[in-house]
Amino acid sequence: MRHTKIVCTLGPASLHRETLAAMCRAGMDVARLNTSHGTVEQHLAAVELVREVAKQEGKTLGVLMDLSGPKLRTGIMRNGSVHLQVGDPVRLTSEQVEGTADLIPVEYPRLCEDVLAGDRVLLDDGKIEAEVVQVSPEGLECRVIVGGELLSRKGVSFPRSNLTVPALTEADRAYIDVGVKAGVDFFALSFVRDGEDIARARQLIYDLGADIPIVAKIERRQAVEHLDDIMAEADGAMVARGDLGVELPPEDVPVQQRRIIEAAGRHMIPVITATQMLESMIDSPRPTRAESSDVANAVWDVSDALMLSGETAIGRYPVETVAMMDRIIRKAEEAMSSDTGPAIRAENDDHSYIVALAARNIVESDPNMRGIVCFTRSGYTAFLMSKVHSQAPVYGMTPDEAVCRRLSLARSVIPVQVPVVDSAETMLRLVDEVLVERRYAQGGEEVVVVASSPVQARGTTNFLKLHSIGESARY
Ligand code: PEP
Repeated sequence: MRHTKIVCTLGPASLHRETLAAMCRAGMDVARLNTSHGTVEQHLAAVELVREVAKQEGKTLGVLMDLSGPKLRTGIMRNGSVHLQVGDPVRLTSEQVEGTADLIPVEYPRLCEDVLAGDRVLLDDGKIEAEVVQVSPEGLECRVIVGGELLSRKGVSFPRSNLTVPALTEADRAYIDVGVKAGVDFFALSFVRDGEDIARARQLIYDLGADIPIVAKIERRQAVEHLDDIMAEADGAMVARGDLGVELPPEDVPVQQRRIIEAAGRHMIPVITATQMLESMIDSPRPTRAESSDVANAVWDVSDALMLSGETAIGRYPVETVAMMDRIIRKAEEAMSSDTGPAIRAENDDHSYIVALAARNIVESDPNMRGIVCFTRSGYTAFLMSKVHSQAPVYGMTPDEAVCRRLSLARSVIPVQVPVVDSAETMLRLVDEVLVERRYAQGGEEVVVVASSPVQARGTTNFLKLHSIGESARY
């Protein structure tokens, strides 16, 4: 089996039934809809198509709706672009004027309140750089440090400033409504600053009568500084290396990648490593050597999932890219040290975590053990099991279809939807039936079963049984 999951961003290159089905067979686990692009109608059609393809292929696929957040952009430039010369003065203004080489409009009303003299401005994903010399009533008086051609509506960031712009925009709020109605499995929140941003989004989802997990995209310096606060509120995290690499110097990105993965481990939430993983495959049938090493290293860092962006959204080789990622991950996992330790939970006297650790130790101490079966109503036990980094598969069995789809993001977990059980005996009979029927195990082999007891309970993992397949026939 492959432990690390694959998230694929959908777009014009992949939104066709046959391509999507082929991507599913090649290894896609989660489909990502990026609301920075496309229309509401296109995203609704995409959710429907993913659900149909999943059914047709007999595979559990999750749908992640990525809310674009408050990406700051320049306004419209005169004649489409302006040239900024090193050393030249330039003013940044919140006024919606036409941009010139000495006056650049930025779509952010609090420019003069939130940015200070001495702060940096990065334009067009960091290709152009300026320093704020003075804040005047008219705007930010800057000096160009790295020049270049600036086109209309390019990204702007202020890596040293504490912007007060909230993570949720009006467009995001509207998309939360759309996503709830369409029944997406996860929301991802862009440009999160702290735990409060997550709490606000969660309240909005609750107010719509839903409870959908939220993945915090870590891409701001402020987020890096409030990592534990964010992780304590979020249900998942994403190392969003694209924007993170604009806010921070390139040499900081790998260090933060490790730090974010480690923090997600402590908080027992899944973490996705994202952006430019196989970027060259947008145009080429083979990745660069550096990219295949990057994918392997993200596996060895113990990411739960790796993400493809442009590769599957607009690339020429969407299916080949998924297949390539699948191959690199499998090879990296084979070469992974067998003593990859479990993630260390912050409160390590938590009994559920101790049960999960025990299950890992038992299954790895006996070659007749075929895996860990975990019964879960809320998904809690399966996500916990995933975080102890067992070498064996974890069969995440749940009666809840939505929970089953959420398990698509959990490392090592094979989601299986099963009927509701009302007793430990029925649960063990189901284990026998499902594992044999799906050829995951055969009579006489063993598994460790973990669950909550009574079986209706949620959020406590307090049941562990060593179970021999077929044994339930004797009950
Ligand atoms: C990123 O910045 O790495 C990212 C995943 O976000 P987006 O694709 O929305 O820019």
